[in-house]
Amino acid sequence: MSDIIQLLPDHVANQIAAGEVVQRPASVVKELLENAIDAGATEIKLILKEAGKTLVQVIDNGKGMSTTDARLSFERHATSKIRSAEDLFQLHTKGFRGEALASIAAIAHVELKTKQEQDELGTEILIEGSHVKSQEATVVPKGTSVAVKNLFFNIPARRNFLKSNTVELRHVTDEFHRVALAHPDIAFTMFHNGSELFNLQSSNYRQRVVHIFGSKTNEKLVPVEEHTEVLKVSGFVGKPEFSKKTKSEQFFFVNNRFIKSPYLNHAINAAFEGLLKDGYHPSYFLNLTVDPKTIDINIHPTKTEIKFDDEHTLYAILRSAVKHSLGQFNIAPVLDFESNTNLNTPYNYKDKAGQTPTIEVDRSFNPFADESSKTPSKSFKSSASHFTKPTANWESLYVGLESKSNSNDGDDFSEVTFESDSETGSIFKDDEVKQEKTTYQLHKKYIVSTIKSGMLIVDQNRAHQRILYENLLKQLTSKEATTQQLLFPLELHFTTSDMEAIKQLQSDLEHAGFEFTDIQNEQLTIKGVPVGVAEAEVKIVLEQLISDVVNDVPDQNFSASDLLAKSMAKSLAIKTGQVLEKDEQEHLVNSLFACKEPSVSPTNKTTFITFGVNDIEKKFM
Ligand code: ADP
Ligand code: MG
Repeated sequence: MSDIIQLLPDHVANQIAAGEVVQRPASVVKELLENAIDAGATEIKLILKEAGKTLVQVIDNGKGMSTTDARLSFERHATSKIRSAEDLFQLHTKGFRGEALASIAAIAHVELKTKQEQDELGTEILIEGSHVKSQEATVVPKGTSVAVKNLFFNIPARRNFLKSNTVELRHVTDEFHRVALAHPDIAFTMFHNGSELFNLQSSNYRQRVVHIFGSKTNEKLVPVEEHTEVLKVSGFVGKPEFSKKTKSEQFFFVNNRFIKSPYLNHAINAAFEGLLKDGYHPSYFLNLTVDPKTIDINIHPTKTEIKFDDEHTLYAILRSAVKHSLGQFNIAPVLDFESNTNLNTPYNYKDKAGQTPTIEVDRSFNPFADESSKTPSKSFKSSASHFTKPTANWESLYVGLESKSNSNDGDDFSEVTFESDSETGSIFKDDEVKQEKTTYQLHKKYIVSTIKSGMLIVDQNRAHQRILYENLLKQLTSKEATTQQLLFPLELHFTTSDMEAIKQLQSDLEHAGFEFTDIQNEQLTIKGVPVGVAEAEVKIVLEQLISDVVNDVPDQNFSASDLLAKSMAKSLAIKTGQVLEKDEQEHLVNSLFACKEPSVSPTNKTTFITFGVNDIEKKFM
């Protein structure tokens, strides 16, 4: 048989690559603006016609290109920004793939004009669908102008797929904002169909935010500033009363690059916990600076997702930095562990000499076990594989969390004292008081337990969702889920459109532990499922997922992993109405307080409440 494999011609390869890089005019805007910044421009002008469908032009005063470079810049994998794979770990530029110009030129009419400072004449090149139409010397100022006309002129299907001008212009504006926010020192202007939409002078960060989002913004910004060895945070969060129904004012920049991170977004939400009305989102404009070695921006073709080496630490720093700012500016009461314990220092301890604190970790500690029998509880050996490792002494973890107390005037919580209290306190020495720690299940829905300050009530379904969600998200991002092989492959049937949704999420599902052998139009064969998912649950999990994908309109904050983790947590969590054994109850509570964000479910619903003894006393008055 004769050989049949051929290398694709360059222009075909470029068109295919363009599919990844260029989805819409906004993608072109992003790439061109980033190139201008990489070229060291101090002034950048963006000109659009018909939301960029007929023209996207970016003019910069950067360093320009030589004639040879100008020609080479349209070759695929042609870049001046990296030379070897090692350079990827020391990136200080936006671009590095050398793909953008080649891709854009494959699917549009491109006109490049460029000149370097020292050159007398510049270069002008015209390219249409990867074919160079002309190249000549020309008189132009220093810098570069790239005009991209008639996007997708040679791919009608893609062109028809574009949305209305209003929608496309919104995407373009979003990109423009992101780039402009990341570089307040650079002056930007933006024109659409002949009218000027933005004129942003070089300024400081606060001014840049205000110029973009309107003068009213100024009064609502609270500065955030935190410098640690691993992370520098600077920028602003919006005061809680200015929070929005949409997530349109949420910006993270890592080393001056806009990124999306549901995980870090959580850190901010956690810092705002208790300060926002249901369904409202905080505004934030935060710049994170980290060592480029500790991040990997290479995992997403359009480079808005990013992988951090040590996400957990960043989460903690970010959350506390924002919390601190909100507290410092008198926006949130500062609830911290230290001041609370000081308030509670027993009288006769006041005169004792201070001791160097030591940290003791008792991994076998179980707050529910009888104090005298210091044996490890059997709940620690529980088989539920998708539970996190419970943290000993969770009660100390919950201190400082702003859980929803049921009292109307929660502020009194620590201030009101009852005479009878102090009397009882002096009769017994502390260690003589045996606090019985037991859990009860109430109405097959809540787990009730005693805590030092009173009573804890946990919603079993929401708590379990939180536990599963954090675990799944970890598995999905680290891709370390374990699969359990099925004895007989499972065949499931779906509608064609449902199958589309599954196909979209296939790789994420595989990271979660699913193994598919065959995906057809309406039939799916499954060979392996994530450990902890029973065969009978598979269909429910997938159906729930499909409905979530359809209902959760993927917006700019859409992250497949996050959606999948939420959806699976919802399907797999212990339901209301399910009877739980004692050790299951204990394990649930332990695992909840081992979570990063125990106080809310993945959909932001309260997972537990506390009743202070004071609250109870008040009810009896
Ligand atoms: P990348 O940015 O990943 O290197 P691009 O295709 O976007 O790839 O650009 C290719 C090369 O063209 C860049 O590495 C740079 O050397 C040059 N270039 C592109 N745009 C400009 C510009 N506005 N000013 C100067 N040089 C540019
Ligand atoms: Mg580039």
